[in-house]
Amino acid sequence: MPIRILPDKIASQIAAGEVIERPASVVKELVENALDAQAGQIVITVDEAGRRLIQVADDGCGIAAEELSLAVVRHATSKLSTADDLFKIATLGFRGEALASIGSISRLTLTSRPRNSEMGLELRVDGGKIKGKKPLGAPAGTIIRVEDLFYNVPARLKFLKTDRTERRAIDTLVMRYALAYPNTRFQLQHGSRQVLQTSGNGDRREVLAELYNAEIARSMIEVLANFEDLNITGFVSPTSITRANRREILFFINGRPVQDFTLTAALTKAYHTLLMVGRYPIAVLFLELPPEVVDVNVHPTKAEVRFRERDFIFRSIGRAVRRALLAHTPIPEVDSLSDQLHWSRIGAGNNFQRQEIDPAWGMSNDEKLSNDRVGDEIAAGAQSQLPDIGMPLLRLVGQVARTYLIAEGPDGLYLIDQHAAHERVLFEKFIAQQSDQIPSQKLIEPVVVEMPAASADLLEEQLPIIGNLGFEVEDFGGGSFLIRAMPALLAGMDPAAALQVLVEDFEDDETPLQDKVEEKIIARVCKRASVKGGEVLSKDEQEKLLRDLESSHAPRTCPHGRPTMIHLSADLLERQFGRRGAR
Ligand code: ADP
Ligand code: MG
Repeated sequence: MPIRILPDKIASQIAAGEVIERPASVVKELVENALDAQAGQIVITVDEAGRRLIQVADDGCGIAAEELSLAVVRHATSKLSTADDLFKIATLGFRGEALASIGSISRLTLTSRPRNSEMGLELRVDGGKIKGKKPLGAPAGTIIRVEDLFYNVPARLKFLKTDRTERRAIDTLVMRYALAYPNTRFQLQHGSRQVLQTSGNGDRREVLAELYNAEIARSMIEVLANFEDLNITGFVSPTSITRANRREILFFINGRPVQDFTLTAALTKAYHTLLMVGRYPIAVLFLELPPEVVDVNVHPTKAEVRFRERDFIFRSIGRAVRRALLAHTPIPEVDSLSDQLHWSRIGAGNNFQRQEIDPAWGMSNDEKLSNDRVGDEIAAGAQSQLPDIGMPLLRLVGQVARTYLIAEGPDGLYLIDQHAAHERVLFEKFIAQQSDQIPSQKLIEPVVVEMPAASADLLEEQLPIIGNLGFEVEDFGGGSFLIRAMPALLAGMDPAAALQVLVEDFEDDETPLQDKVEEKIIARVCKRASVKGGEVLSKDEQEKLLRDLESSHAPRTCPHGRPTMIHLSADLLERQFGRRGAR
């Protein structure tokens, strides 16, 4: 085929493909335009998850009548004029691509009236062609209607996920902007259902309460720090509030949400040793930097940025967060720990070695891998000296450090992690009951739980499975759920916490295999429901736990694969005490 220049229509569809992947991308572009126009209020209306309609109305500066047609032309922008501007961008938009792109793959109607104009003007674009323009009365500001998105690019339509997923993407996105711009009032509606409404009074905690709940909003720790020309503000969760994934760690650079692995790593590092392995904080951090040191022109969607002095930023985040956390949380005496001795079995030989505990021992995300390895070694060590299956009958000695049980077996001493052991016990009871009907226990008072929109959608979808597990949960609409019953095994656990655990699990893995889902949920729920380290157990409770563990099928590991017990054999003790064959 000869080389030809692509017809404009195809060229714009290709360009559109880069910016507009799904309905949420339209929402992003339109909301950013409204914010660039200094809107005090942004109202977003969505129908059929954005396939039929996305409308964004703002009370911003508006577009002058004579420029309205230009707004939908590719590379037409009011935000840049010289090439130099590109290196100090202070607006969210600058590429002049969004409206042109959206116009080429939908039916687009722009209505705008600058505050100083008498009349508004409406412009209609259909599949990239201007279809008409007419003056009409309109409120000051801009209303952009996007109908029948992707109607002329069926391939794109096919790639859209379920309505729920697309809606969730929109909800998450709008909530992020609402957090970043607390002085703007945001309102989001799916059909007639209002999903989000913020007051615009500048109080970010209030927005956090919308997103999570009042309690989380109250307990979030404020970060306020300044290092040279870098300002860091925002909120991080105390160590008591964690999530199973990093999804709720949000960074904004100069008001723009960005995804950047280094930033997330800097944050999780600041929690070093403060969180359990596999748990992550909730965080929203806003970095303000001179625009010339940030390059946002990396990708058409601008979700990635490059910045100079990455190391400096990395360190600053760590310091800012660490400082805020320390001011708030008493830290464990990490330093004194390193003086203590720790028994660890190295390699396959039979030599136990004295090893100093690394203060960072396996607590942070970065260390997770090595921690797992150490855990495996201990597990392997313990296993090699235990019978193949099960465990020997043990005589309870007592509890130490409110965390471990000590027991005596036919061959020495056993240290049992009470949390891991209880997890195992609960897990097996659940699985055993699963073949019949898991017994459910009615709550005396049904409990109402409010979920943020994105979690609510997930939960709704999974209600049948949850029912199989002995929960009785009713969807009240608008993110409210009524818990009437819980699995009898979890009696005593906070129902709202139990439900939260379920949603976290789904967020981890959007479309897990059905049979795996139940098992995963059960493991997760057991983890939360089981006794924690730090809880004093009565003699009877200790005894019961030990007996229950003995009757488990796989007593030596918790459902997540960590060891429940460490064995110090009589032989080992003798050698360590120099009674026999030492050195
Ligand atoms: P960009 O935002 O990169 O400049 P867009 O295609 O998103 O490109 O918008 C083109 C232009 O239309 C903007 O530069 C701006 O002048 C104008 N515009 C778009 N949306 C609005 C709005 N909501 N209010 C005021 N002006 C707008
Ligand atoms: Mg724009």
